[in-house]
Amino acid sequence: MSYKIIVDGIQHKFSSAHFIVGHDKCGRLHGHNFHVAVEFGGPLDPRYNFVVDFIDVKNAIKAEVDKLDHRILIPTASKDLVLKESKDNLDFTFSGKRYSVPRDDVCLLPLPAVTSELLAKHFHDVLSQRFKGFKIKVRIGETSSTFAEYGE
Ligand SMILES: [Zn+2]
Repeated sequence: MSYKIIVDGIQHKFSSAHFIVGHDKCGRLHGHNFHVAVEFGGPLDPRYNFVVDFIDVKNAIKAEVDKLDHRILIPTASKDLVLKESKDNLDFTFSGKRYSVPRDDVCLLPLPAVTSELLAKHFHDVLSQRFKGFKIKVRIGETSSTFAEYGE
C-alpha cells in the first residue's frame, strides 16, 4: 500500500511570458498565470507517519516559482533560437524576429521549448533532485481549464 500527498496549484502561481518558436499564434510573446500542483507518492515516514513534509515540498516549489515569476521564460536548448547576452541585455531572435530585453527580466531555462509539458518536467526534475525515492507527478496549469502533467 502506498500513500500520496497532493499540493494543489492554488498557492503556487507564476505570471510569466513565453512563446513557442514556429507556432503561428503562440510564436508571439504572450503571458499566462501558470500554476503548479504536485503529488508525492511513497511509503509513510516511520517517524512522522507522513509521506513527506508538506512544508518542505511547498518551500521547494516556491523557490522555483520565484525564479520564474514575472519573467520572460527563454528556452536555451531551442535549436531555432539565437541568444546573445551583453552586459545588461539579452537579445534573442527566432522566426525572423528580434527581441532585446533587460537581463533581469529573463529566466533562462535549459529546455528545447517553454511549453506547459516541459515546465512540468522541469519542476519534476528540480523536485526529484531535492527529494529522493518518491513517485513525483507535476501538473502545470496554463489556464483554469488546461493542464499538462509529467511524472509517475
Ligand atoms: Zn502560451
